Amino acid sequence: MNGIQDMFPKDFMFGAATAAYQVEGGWNEGGRGPSIWDDFAHQPGRIANGYNGDVACDSYHKYKEDVQLLVHLGVQHYLFSISWSRIMPDGTPSSINQQGIEYYSNLIDELIANNIEPMVKLYHWDLPSGLQKHGGWLNDSIADWFDAYARVCFEQFGNRVKYWLTFNEAYVVSWLGYGNGIFAPGVHSPGVGVYRAAHNIIRSHSRVYHTYNNHFKTRYHGQVGITLDIEWKQPLTMSTEDALAAERALQFKLGLFANAILENGDYPQIMKDYVGRKSHGTSRLPTFTEEEKKINKGAYDFLGINHYTTHMISNKPNPDSEPDYEQDQEIETRYDSCWGKTPADWLNEYPRGIRLLLNYVKVKYNNPPVIITESGRPDIEGSNDKGRIHYYTSYINELMKAIKIDGCNVKGYTAWSLMDNFEWLMGYTQRFGLYYVDFTNPNRTRAPRKSVDVYRNIIKNNGFVKP
Ligand code: BGC
Repeated sequence: MNGIQDMFPKDFMFGAATAAYQVEGGWNEGGRGPSIWDDFAHQPGRIANGYNGDVACDSYHKYKEDVQLLVHLGVQHYLFSISWSRIMPDGTPSSINQQGIEYYSNLIDELIANNIEPMVKLYHWDLPSGLQKHGGWLNDSIADWFDAYARVCFEQFGNRVKYWLTFNEAYVVSWLGYGNGIFAPGVHSPGVGVYRAAHNIIRSHSRVYHTYNNHFKTRYHGQVGITLDIEWKQPLTMSTEDALAAERALQFKLGLFANAILENGDYPQIMKDYVGRKSHGTSRLPTFTEEEKKINKGAYDFLGINHYTTHMISNKPNPDSEPDYEQDQEIETRYDSCWGKTPADWLNEYPRGIRLLLNYVKVKYNNPPVIITESGRPDIEGSNDKGRIHYYTSYINELMKAIKIDGCNVKGYTAWSLMDNFEWLMGYTQRFGLYYVDFTNPNRTRAPRKSVDVYRNIIKNNGFVKP
């Protein structure tokens, strides 16, 4: 391959990721309560081909086999999520489900017995249905509910789990769940709900970060972060307007959360200006109290970044737009038609983007410790996995440049995904797995794709030269 021939730092961590609803199945087994994704996927017309996550990869029963897939890859960590409603069927501490605790406890033990570091996401989108009845992330009390849930997880698993992520993709929860409403719970509130959900996610994250710090850190010495998803935003032209538009796009998506947590406890000034001006009265962007700002600021030990693709951004003034998070930004987004296309229409391959993004994060947020918590792509079936192999090789090589040449403080890389799984609205029609899963087989048989060998070699060599 072209690219730099070098090795990652000695303690660099490679891993693979999944999420509870996408792989576990066992949706009504072992005392699990329903989540908003069960409800959503069970509604006709929501998911491609009427698929749902009732069985998914059946990891609820096959977790030991999953661990062996990880062993074969040679990864240092496995990033998975806990299903809140498996631990608390109605979302509150009044219903704690021992069988759910046992399931994750067994998975964690199995990982540790195989020398794999468990990395845990507390929330990958599957809110207990009982809490959505009270408004879900739009209800300010959710910070209390989330904190109560997190405490149980820290109590039960903290002795073995050293890496915690509060949220996976806070943006997706806010915008797709409570903004345009194309994801569960399907709330359409593009100008108001989206900001309220984001606000409560930041409040909940900061709260839980301090709960860990105050009550568990000295006992368990773990780290708590949050995963934000962000494309690199490339200005379409060399004009100042487009450069400012690209910066605005970064601030509205990454800065929406990162500014409060990694910078100054509050929203980016540019968001306050734009949303304020387009609100005609009290701003639709909520405000933090001084106390909340103090709690937000610095509430992280590391930053998780999910990075897949790059957008071209241009300036698009629209002074009279309707209240809408996307319109509020006054930008237009495009893909460069030269970039490698994939079966996912939102995902074009642009390896350089990961390096540019990491350099942006380094400068903007004072070089925080970063773990890439997701990165990957689906491939065309029957293509011999060529696209996926190219993606992993070139993105990981660009990541190496960011670390070795640019000095970005990146501690780990996590492939999405360990295996094909329930790809949200696309059901089982889009496959991101290193391992293929046969969803027509009641055993949900797994088989390695070609990219398994490629990723495995990169991990074995800790980069692109033989040690
Ligand atoms: C999500 C995953 C999803 C992947 C591919 C990420 O946004 O965290 O759950 O499967 O992208 O779409």
